[in-house]
Amino acid sequence: MDKKVNSVYRFAPSPTGLLHVGGARTAIFNWLLAKKEGARFLLRIEDTDEKRSSKESLDQIINSLDWLDIKWDGSPLFQSKQKERHKQIANELLEKGKAYRCFCTPDMLREERKRAEANKKAFLYNGRCRQLIASEIESNLKNNKPFTLRLRIDDGETTFNDLIRGGVTVKHAELDDFVILRSDRSPVYHLAVVVDDHDMGITHVVRGDDHLSNTPKQILIYEALGWQIPIYAHVPLICGFDGARLSKRHGATAVEEFKEKGFLPDALFNYLCLLGWAPGDDRELMSRDEIVSSFSLDRISKKDAIFDEKKLKWMNGKYLSQQSNNHLTNLLGPILANKEQVKIEKDRQNFLFLIDLVKTRAQTVNEIYENIEFYFSDPGSYEEKGVDKYFRNDDAIDLLDRLMSQLIKEENFDAENMEKIVRGLADTLGIKAGTLIHPLRLALTGRTTSPGIFDVMQILGRETVIRRIEKALTRSYM
Ligand code: GLU
Repeated sequence: MDKKVNSVYRFAPSPTGLLHVGGARTAIFNWLLAKKEGARFLLRIEDTDEKRSSKESLDQIINSLDWLDIKWDGSPLFQSKQKERHKQIANELLEKGKAYRCFCTPDMLREERKRAEANKKAFLYNGRCRQLIASEIESNLKNNKPFTLRLRIDDGETTFNDLIRGGVTVKHAELDDFVILRSDRSPVYHLAVVVDDHDMGITHVVRGDDHLSNTPKQILIYEALGWQIPIYAHVPLICGFDGARLSKRHGATAVEEFKEKGFLPDALFNYLCLLGWAPGDDRELMSRDEIVSSFSLDRISKKDAIFDEKKLKWMNGKYLSQQSNNHLTNLLGPILANKEQVKIEKDRQNFLFLIDLVKTRAQTVNEIYENIEFYFSDPGSYEEKGVDKYFRNDDAIDLLDRLMSQLIKEENFDAENMEKIVRGLADTLGIKAGTLIHPLRLALTGRTTSPGIFDVMQILGRETVIRRIEKALTRSYM
């Protein structure tokens, strides 16, 4: 293994909403690289935007990372706590002549922006305050004129080698002397990121492609400070089928939503790894260890990745079917009502058998629940299409009636015996077993699909089977 123990990776979420799958994937990629190299992986909370940041969002991000079992080294660094340090560095840049005071008023800048927009041009600050002479600056300061600090960017271009994108060059004519410290002395994002990455000893910045255009500006700050520039890798974005960046209108986008929908963390982890990365062979279901040993940035695609929930569900189904019945029972815990929990405790062996029957039919924990709901209570209603097909004919009443008269005499409700009785009756009547099984299934489960009906009869037991058939027989539409 290539041990670059001195490398330091990081994940730097802004606590302004739920953890998006794109953010989670960035965290995973950094975590994988650190794991693979025996390097450090740090967490930084970018909470400088006081209006949009919230404790609730922070807690949700941390919970989602915990759920995905992504652990970072040490304590998280909170960007908002570093403000004094950011300010100090901005002032150092001013002293070195790498930054200058800009006294332009917001009104002036607004006017210029409007003019640029009217000419369909991007607004770039024209560097007016670069030229101010010492006496002008002094008098402005004496008059308490508010000012920002802007980075002095000379003519030329900035080039960097992105580990995914390759060489990227930006001409400085496309940039302007951007603000690094606002007039209220708060640092802007670019300055905060550079200072924090430097102070945390970050060697590799692996982040979403949406940050690509920020990188030249950040590199210019590193250069102005004479600091070591980290290695950059910008990972492609995650999009919906329409090619637009994955957002709410495509459906679930947050890790928390997938948790609530009954996905397993290992399945989501595995699926997210394959968004933009591939091991180079046809493996898809991969354990974390396998992914760690196969992962490398040079196998990350430059193209945007498409999020396909169906594929994720398929993968989740595969992971579900590999879980023990006991573990699946525990996973169902949060969605079960109290009285359902109590019932399971009293009847655990029987319930585990039921789980075993449904776990290969369901793709999410929630779907497992839908498949076992019949176990907990008598059907409150029957699936409409089943009623039309299997209940609304005279034979159904007659068939269930006949079956009832046999079941009443039975004590042994084991699947084997039930099969003997149901098939035996069908044979006697000269009908296909299905003709009897379909209305029976609907009567017992309220649904047109269920695990094998004889197993269902065994699991429900004599009393419940008889009661449910009786109930179905008394429905007026039969
Ligand atoms: N806080 C930024 C975000 O959530 C990440 C910044 C970075 O990775 O440099 O998109």
